[in-house]
Amino acid sequence: MKDEFVVGVDLGGTKICAAVINSRGKIIYDQTLPTKVWMGKTFILNTMITLIEELIQKCRLNNKKIKGIGVGSPGPLDISKGEIICAPNLPFKNFDIITPLKDKFNIPVYLDNDANAAALGEYMFGAGRGSRNMIFITVSTGIGGGAVLNGNIYRGNTQNALEVGHMTLEKDGPLCNCGNRGCAEVLASGTAIAREAKRAVNRGEVTSLSQYENVTSREVFKEAELGDDTAKRILDTALNYLGICVANVMNCFDPDVVVIGGGVSKGGSIVIDRISGVVKKRCFKTISENTKILQAELGTYAGVIGAAALVIMGFKKNS
Ligand SMILES: [Zn+2]
Repeated sequence: MKDEFVVGVDLGGTKICAAVINSRGKIIYDQTLPTKVWMGKTFILNTMITLIEELIQKCRLNNKKIKGIGVGSPGPLDISKGEIICAPNLPFKNFDIITPLKDKFNIPVYLDNDANAAALGEYMFGAGRGSRNMIFITVSTGIGGGAVLNGNIYRGNTQNALEVGHMTLEKDGPLCNCGNRGCAEVLASGTAIAREAKRAVNRGEVTSLSQYENVTSREVFKEAELGDDTAKRILDTALNYLGICVANVMNCFDPDVVVIGGGVSKGGSIVIDRISGVVKKRCFKTISENTKILQAELGTYAGVIGAAALVIMGFKKNS
């Protein structure tokens, strides 16, 4: 794939980001447009087409140099049919997203869920470069995951493998969006950190978090670093749960690398240090001693680079 290019599209509930990427994972050009979910599925599909057309034009490339398009989308998906079955923040139901793009651009189109795409991006071009078996865990408003094992995305029977955010950590814990109680997501996500901060403020705790009208996990990280006890306690609890989640996943997969991504991972060295500390205590020793736990490298571009990586991996497999 020398001097060849692929397009990655990161389809989200608030914005659609697309980028042209070369075979070494470098972004040549990228562009983002609002999704405007209220405008409906045809509008969103047309936005994607416009984005791709403009990118190809701006890079002065023609369709022939673009080897394929990869789309990362929230799930659940039916990857074999190229369909988005439904997505909580998008107006799609059993929507075939591959055929219209294939018809329009006449090149191969690949679809996978956004967490799998980001995992593949980190595996090929980010923190997981050079690893054999890599687990990716993304922690932001929710907690998601992906596994790339021997170069292949592991999807499982119903293509929902690595729903690590819904691992039970407290049997009688708070209710999760999925209907279960005490999931990792409801205890350790950015949303969970923000929720605990608001509760502490509402309880009247003396904390610098009370200066914020709408406190998010970002403010909790900031105030913890400045020494606020409440912020430190909330973070410590959430990161302890996250560490347990990571230790459990490591015990199952025995990976050589675990990559932690998403907004919460940007909270600084405290995140990786705390997770590593918990893993050291709770994970099977032989596994923990041989697994690296690393912060994701691709940041906000993980989605598009990962979507583009789907194409590159597809070509590698077929060549
Ligand atoms: Zn859950």
